[in-house]
Amino acid sequence: NERGRANHKASSIEMQGLHKRFGRDTVALDGVDLDIRAGEFFTLLGPSGCGKTTLLRILAGLEEPDAGSLVVGGKNITETPPHQRSVNTVFQSYALFPHLSVRENLAFGLKMRGMPAAERHTKVDEIADFIKLGDLVDRHVDQLSGGQRQRIALARALICEPDVLLLDEPLSALDAGLRSQLQVELLRVQKRLGMTFVFVTHDQQEAMVMSDRIAVLNGGTIQQVGAPREVYERPVNAFVARFMGHDNLYTISARKSDRLITALGELTAEDAGNGELLLIRPETLDLLPGAVEGPNHLTATVAERLYRGSHAEFRLAIGNTTLQATVNNRGRHLPEVGETVTVAVAPEDLVTLHE
Ligand code: ATP
Repeated sequence: NERGRANHKASSIEMQGLHKRFGRDTVALDGVDLDIRAGEFFTLLGPSGCGKTTLLRILAGLEEPDAGSLVVGGKNITETPPHQRSVNTVFQSYALFPHLSVRENLAFGLKMRGMPAAERHTKVDEIADFIKLGDLVDRHVDQLSGGQRQRIALARALICEPDVLLLDEPLSALDAGLRSQLQVELLRVQKRLGMTFVFVTHDQQEAMVMSDRIAVLNGGTIQQVGAPREVYERPVNAFVARFMGHDNLYTISARKSDRLITALGELTAEDAGNGELLLIRPETLDLLPGAVEGPNHLTATVAERLYRGSHAEFRLAIGNTTLQATVNNRGRHLPEVGETVTVAVAPEDLVTLHE
């Protein structure tokens, strides 16, 4: 039953020059400018302490910025108190009332808004149906599993139909299997509702699976904003490259040239220098058995092989440099340690960037 949901209005979010300091020394946000589109699944991604939660709390109105402005759905809400914002939050801890039933938990917000009982009842049935909780509504929260509780927390945040839903690591307390199942569910719900979701995580895989776009944060500043593929395949700096995945990152001794690959043998493994860097994602490399002459081919020796079922990871020695390569296993010869192989590099897969 999706009555009344199709016409839900989503809101865009514009943040400008947001600064937040805690005490004298901690700069949590150091000038954040960010535009989130209406109906977007947008993720704030970054290591612990980078400012993700602070940014989310500012959106929720739970924290006041020292400077900057926040516009949601065309309205400046920088000074608007939390309960007057059409923004709802799902936290990592479920924050449900343990002594109440699922139905009472779901209806709580509606009751606070003065919605009559009959209408509340219908609304709860509707959302429970929508998020496939039908059988659970009359149970007590303390009879539910972690995954079920997290779904109820999500349903409770959705039931008031906010223009924006904020999610602070809502899946991080769940085990891997349940987590990936709920990732898919959450994504489906978001697409069906067309609501703007701002999702916080420090998990790169989760961010890439879920998001329309990702903002990578570090030290209170935004490093890059882009679609998952852009951020992973075309990182704008060394921080994003390292944070998003296994990498081959080299300092380039010569200036970038069209013949980067012939120069590969002269590269030194990443060091503290702040020259130009070359990034080669391990999965973009192709391995051929033996020494094969050819353009963009490098001869290497297998130094290490990690078989991982779906794929295998290799550490390859090329002169004094090591190179990581990831290949899928299907129907492929997997070279042994000590074997000579040829690494085929596609020039378009090389990314040059700065520290
Ligand atoms: P995590 O993934 O660990 O939750 P985060 O990216 O969400 O990290 P924030 O919680 O936004 O990071 O914190 C940013 C910085 O601000 C950190 O250095 C943190 O210690 C500090 N900070 C956050 N809240 C407070 C507070 N209430 N008082 C003092 N310092 C704070």
